[in-house]
Amino acid sequence: MLEVDQLAVAYGEAGAIWDVSLRVATGELLCVVGPNGAGKTTLVNTIAGILPPKSGRIAMNGQEITRLAPHRFCEAGIALVPEGRRLFTGMTVADNLDVGSYLPAAKAKRRETLEEVLTLFPALKAKLPEPAGELSGGQQQMVAIGRALMARPRLLLLDEPSLGLSPLVTADMFDAIRKISAAGMTIVLVEQNVAMAMRVSHRALVLELGRIVAEGAPDELMQRPEIRKAYLGT
Ligand code: ATP
Repeated sequence: MLEVDQLAVAYGEAGAIWDVSLRVATGELLCVVGPNGAGKTTLVNTIAGILPPKSGRIAMNGQEITRLAPHRFCEAGIALVPEGRRLFTGMTVADNLDVGSYLPAAKAKRRETLEEVLTLFPALKAKLPEPAGELSGGQQQMVAIGRALMARPRLLLLDEPSLGLSPLVTADMFDAIRKISAAGMTIVLVEQNVAMAMRVSHRALVLELGRIVAEGAPDELMQRPEIRKAYLGT
């Protein structure tokens, strides 16, 4: 579904990622892990159309989208849950979710999609009329994911969904990600919580200093001593 070829992205003169190529098949969950500053956020923001690449190519279902305007990336079926959630904290939960379904095709199915989101995150049901900023961190992350799902995307990009959440809430968040994946969604997941991310993913990719240094099945990667040492502390 997603093809990224030899992507390079820079902030002004400062390069952030180089020669990144990856493929994500329909229904696959790919996790991207790596230390702080490795370029994970840069990668997903570029795939979401927010950052223009210096060179390289991004295609969805065989159609190149590299140089399109950001809203065209949404139309191509890509939705991003950004790092730090970026909710409209003064707006109600219901309105935050509505924002996700502004494209005509999503708007037409708004009620049905909202039901699906509330089935996935039942805790949000009672919170719909409340300002999003008053929710707990975990619930705000549910709203951020719900908002992305309201767009009825074909590819969901999740940037650090467990950031700042307690272990218990993090476990619930990974359960929800597993459910979204099991329902057939294609997902790219950026995570600091390597052990949990590897457990829910079909394939993993390790980014360091802006380059892919390892890629493979999570089980296989987790057995490599250098990965265990760097990411699991064992
Ligand atoms: P983290 O987990 O800390 O978010 P990351 O793997 O997501 O790290 P990025 O945030 O993509 O990494 O950063 C990659 C590189 O690009 C880093 O060297 C970072 O300092 C730099 N960078 C990121 N955002 C900007 C920016 N807005 N302006 C300049 N440099 C940036």
